[in-house]
Order: sequence, then structure tokens, then C-alpha cells
Amino acid sequence: MTGYEPSYYVASRNPGPRRHGLAGRVSTDVCVVGGGYAGLSAALELAERGFHVTLLEAALVGFGASGRNGGQMLNGLNPGVAAVEKLAGETASRAIWDMTVEATDIVRRRIQRHAIACDWRPGYVHAATKPSHFKAMVEDAEMMAARYGYHDQTVLDRAALAAHVVSERYHGGVFDHGGGHLHPLNYALGLAEAAETAGVVIHEDSRVTEIQEGPRPLVRTAHGEVDCAHVVLAANAYVGDLRPRLARTIMPVATFIIATEPLGAEVVNRLMPSNPCVSDSNFVLDYFRRSADHRILFGGGASYSGRTGPHEPMVMRGKMAKTFPELRDVKVEHFWGGLVDITANRLPDFGRLGDNLWYLQGFSGHGIALTNLAGKLVAEAVAGDAGRFDVFARLKHRPFPGGPLLRTPLLMAAMMWFRLRDLLS
Ligand SMILES: Cc1cc2nc3c(=O)[nH]c(=O)nc-3n(C[C@H](O)[C@H](O)[C@H](O)COP(=O)(O)OP(=O)(O)OC[C@H]3O[C@@H](n4cnc5c(N)ncnc54)[C@H](O)[C@@H]3O)c2cc1C
Repeated sequence: MTGYEPSYYVASRNPGPRRHGLAGRVSTDVCVVGGGYAGLSAALELAERGFHVTLLEAALVGFGASGRNGGQMLNGLNPGVAAVEKLAGETASRAIWDMTVEATDIVRRRIQRHAIACDWRPGYVHAATKPSHFKAMVEDAEMMAARYGYHDQTVLDRAALAAHVVSERYHGGVFDHGGGHLHPLNYALGLAEAAETAGVVIHEDSRVTEIQEGPRPLVRTAHGEVDCAHVVLAANAYVGDLRPRLARTIMPVATFIIATEPLGAEVVNRLMPSNPCVSDSNFVLDYFRRSADHRILFGGGASYSGRTGPHEPMVMRGKMAKTFPELRDVKVEHFWGGLVDITANRLPDFGRLGDNLWYLQGFSGHGIALTNLAGKLVAEAVAGDAGRFDVFARLKHRPFPGGPLLRTPLLMAAMMWFRLRDLLS
């Protein structure tokens, strides 16, 4: 049986059931593959619409990125509205923006409605590492208020930033009232419980080895098969070779997080007085926040080979000490990593293969909010209204260049250039 990889989240998870693996043949309306937020959200939304749903998870609920991430729920899309306007036009961009605001609402409402104990805290700070980044942030906040009617952001100069983050590293920032942070694994576990209450059957330890397409697809695992009307594939960066055509548009980038020992309320209050989540403005960014038991969780780094190097914990500690020098000698109790699902244009990749195989992937660092939305949109589509799903599905995605063998070295070269740009610009 597969277990979770060790992390602070696993060590502090809420108790829950272990679900048995699929055995034998099952017939259902929709088979969802993947027990991360996207799959769980789709399953919950479909069950609420009256569908019978079976969800198959290769390992455990929240085993993938959904149980390991920085816990920072961010509004919008990774590349910003200008990129979406350029790619899809202003009408689509406005529709997409409105849906991303809805995405964060979905998460907040689910936490409340299903009483999910996941340490939710509102507030996100985007912190500028350079004066030029701060200038661009101010312009962007003004543009979002004027053109998109988004007024939930407050610009912070250096002095105002200190009410949220006390660090010499930053030249100012923007506080987004629409963002916030949570315990990601406990949110995933709570979502699974909500889905089961709505009638979803979840099987863990049930890796899908084959999807036989057709009017009634057959989804196979080592010990069973599901015969269904629709499949929702939500395996994302962990999809492996189940659908090579989908894997080609995702670059699974490994990123890492450390958790300090508990530092006490006084220390964390002093460093991050308003208890927001924070990410910086570099392309290869640092992201950090407080935990409910007064640790600092500090994330960043990126391995484009998808592997963890032996020096990563030291690298992360160095980044944390650069941000908060007084933490230089504190004990780091946990270190873990996971795969982030990046697309070439950093926009999410939703679509369908044939009439009844739907896929959701490529949330490009904004997955906490967007996966929850994605599940709702695919449920609407399966129920017969694909209008909103298709606004996303029409976004064009290119495979990473080089094919399976070359794309990693090519991307590593490109990312070294971005790192250099972070240092020089
Ligand atoms: C370290 C880290 C930090 C991050 N920080 C943030 C953040 O702060 N904010 C944010 O918004 N996003 C963040 N992200 C990204 C975010 O976590 C993801 O976008 C999101 O969780 C993706 O959810 P998902 O359901 O699509 O995929 P996953 O959560 O990866 O779930 C996919 C599931 O599919 C299962 N699976 C794979 N293959 C099969 C198969 N053949 N059969 C059955 N099951 C299968 C896997 O076991 C896995 O559980 C971070 C990611 C990482 C790794």
C-alpha cells in the first residue's frame, strides 16, 4: 500500500479513513481519475448534480500537488490579464477573470459549508524584490481597478508593507484581500469527505493503467475496471504515460518547502504581523507564510529535471535567512517537494479527447483556486452546458519543444536564463 511522502502537512493532517482499492467491475456515470483538488472538486460537483461518480486515486487523497503545496490561494491566472487578452481577446479575458474571482469564492464557501478544518486565513501579499517590479505592480493594480473593476487590492509602499511582512528584501507590494492561505492536505481531505457525503465512491491505491475509449469507456486498474459514460482525467503533473498527448503540454517542475520548528506566537507575529501568505516578484519565486502552530513555511526553488538535489534544504534555509535574518539558526523540522503543473503559456489546459474523455491540468502555480473552479466547469459540461468550460478549452496550448527527451534540457536552459534575469534586472 502506498503512503504519503513525509511533510509537515502529513505530520499535522486531520484523521480520516483509508479507502480500499477498486476490486472487480463497477458501472457508474462518471469515472474521475485523480484524487487531488481537481478530481475531488469535479466529483463533488457531479454528485451534487445527481451523477453516480467513482473516483480512482493511484495513491491516497491529496498524495500529489494538492497535499504538498504552499497553501497560498491566489486570484487570477499566472500570466495576468494582458497575456489572456493577447491570446484570446478582451471578451474572453473578462469572462475568464470573472471565473477566477468565482474560483476563490468556491474555495471559501466550501470551507464554510462543509466545515473543513484547514486553518483558512484571508490575505495575500505580492512583494516586490526590485523597484521596477513595484512600479509594474502599482500600474497593474490601477489597471485592474479601472478596467476590470477589481478593487480588492491595496498598494503598499515600503512602510505600509511592514504591517504585513517585516523584511528588508522588499521595495513595497500589493495586498490582495481576495487571496489567503490554508493547510492544503487538510483541505483535500475535507473535500474528499464532502464528496463522499454527496455520494461519491473513492478508491485509493487504485492506479489507472488503461483507459479504453468508446461510447462507454472502460477504465482499468490492476484489480478492477470501471465502465462509465464519461471519464474526467485529473492526474495532472503526476499523469505519467497514461496519456502522452496530455503529458506533452505540461512541464512537471519540482519545487520545495521547508517548515521550521514552532517559533512561538511572538516571533511569527513580529515577522508577519497580519498573517498573510506572501510570494515575491521573481520569475523563480519564493513563497512563505505562517502555520497555525507558529512555524514559518518557506517555499521556492525549482528543479526542471523534476528531481530533488541533496542541497535543496540548505538552499531553502539560505533563502529564508535572506528574508528573515533572525531565522538563520532556527531548526528546520520538515523538508518536502512536489511537482507543479506548468504549461508553456502558464494558462490552465482544459479540454476533451473525443466526446466523453475530459481533462483538467496545467494550473501553473494558481492551482488551489483554479482546480476548484475546473471541477465545477467540467461538471457543468458533463451535465450538458459546456459554455464556460469551452471558454478555457479554447485557449491554445503548445507542447513543450523537444519531445519527451529534449524538453527537460531545453527548459532548464530557458529557466537558467530567467534566473539570471531575476538577478540582473
Ligand atoms: C510544492 C508545491 C507548491 C505549490 N504551491 C502552490 C500555491 O501556493 N498556490 C497554488 O495555487 N498552487 C500551488 N501549487 C500548485 C497546486 O498544488 C496544483 O496546481 C494543484 O494542487 C493541482 O491539483 P490537481 O488535482 O490537478 O493535481 P494533483 O493534486 O497533483 O492530483 C493528481 C492526482 O492524480 C493521481 N494520479 C496520477 N496518475 C494516476 C493514475 N494513473 N490513476 C489514478 N490516479 C492517478 C496522483 O496520485 C495525484 O493524487 C504548488 C504545487 C507544489 C507541488
